[in-house]
Amino acid sequence: MTKMYYDQDADLGFLSDKTIGVIGYGNQGRAQALNLRDSGLKVIVGVRADETQQQAVSDGFGTLSIEEAAKGAQVLLLLIPDEVMPGVFESEVRPWLSRGNALCFASGYNVAFKLIEPPGGVDVVMVAPRMIGAGVRQRYLEGKGFPSFIGVEQDASGDALKATLAIAKGIGSTRSGVMLLTFAQEAELDLFTEQGFGPAFGQVLLAAIQTLIDAGYPVEAVMTELILSGEFAYSMQKIAEMGFFPQMELHSHTSQYGSMTRSVRYMNPQIAQTMQEVLEEIRSGAFAREWEAEQKAGLPVFNQIKEMRNEHPIAEWDRVTREAFHLG
Ligand code: NDP
Repeated sequence: MTKMYYDQDADLGFLSDKTIGVIGYGNQGRAQALNLRDSGLKVIVGVRADETQQQAVSDGFGTLSIEEAAKGAQVLLLLIPDEVMPGVFESEVRPWLSRGNALCFASGYNVAFKLIEPPGGVDVVMVAPRMIGAGVRQRYLEGKGFPSFIGVEQDASGDALKATLAIAKGIGSTRSGVMLLTFAQEAELDLFTEQGFGPAFGQVLLAAIQTLIDAGYPVEAVMTELILSGEFAYSMQKIAEMGFFPQMELHSHTSQYGSMTRSVRYMNPQIAQTMQEVLEEIRSGAFAREWEAEQKAGLPVFNQIKEMRNEHPIAEWDRVTREAFHLG
């Protein structure tokens, strides 16, 4: 069992004499900045003069540039997209870092794969919510917590864990508990969900759709049954809320009997083997290097795949089904 921390383990007072600089005001940036401010902490926001700056201003934050916020804060939360973070860090953050500052990431990715190598003398910590930004804000306002993975990669001050826990408490996460992991563990788990589980699930869904369409069922009915009804999404939500087996009780006996007796037929060792290969590419850093090279080359593969997905028949199946139900 890994180490868990809760509200009583965290001291907001640790940050009371510090200025927290939130860099980026998007999904996580907005939610975390508002939560930290509502927790009584001093928060400044650094954004480029672009779309989200207006949102920050209307939420009552000043209009600081990223450099100004990096200069003025002792604790910096880097909450911009992971792929632009290394460039922004080098040009607009690193020059302003002083000894004793803390850098907090919401994802272990850039540090774990050495795309950002912070200088010695600063604390390097992670508070990575397992929740989208809107949920981070909503649950805070409801007085509820949400899980986060936290980590300390570099403890220059000797107090890095205290800073991490105070940030986690300030955003409302320690109400339900935070779990200590390494940056690498967080990044690898996250990538595996995206590459090991997501695509496998996507292929299963496509195979199910194709099987039913080939068997002559109307496209609109198949898409409604498998996707539009939201039945599967509901089950996943209930698995999260109740647990894997307890949620089964929400389904009819016919459903339970049918799914339990047939599930064994889908046990395929090839799936686990492919997952292991995908995990190995992630852990060795091969994926991170591939993705970095792809970005430097101007995203040729990424753009080509995006083109191809527009041509996949599911785009049309989706469209006709939504049209049939006047869903636009
Ligand atoms: P967003 O995509 O929502 O970030 C948008 C913000 O970044 C905006 O303020 C945007 O400014 C700014 N930005 C975008 N590009 C640049 C750039 N080139 N230079 C300067 N600023 C830029 O990010 P997320 O909140 O999704 O992710 C932030 C971090 O949180 C990441 O590390 C991510 O892995 C992590 N995370 C995200 C989760 C989520 O819910 N999405 C969940 C858990 C962790 P502008 O308006 O000018 O474009």
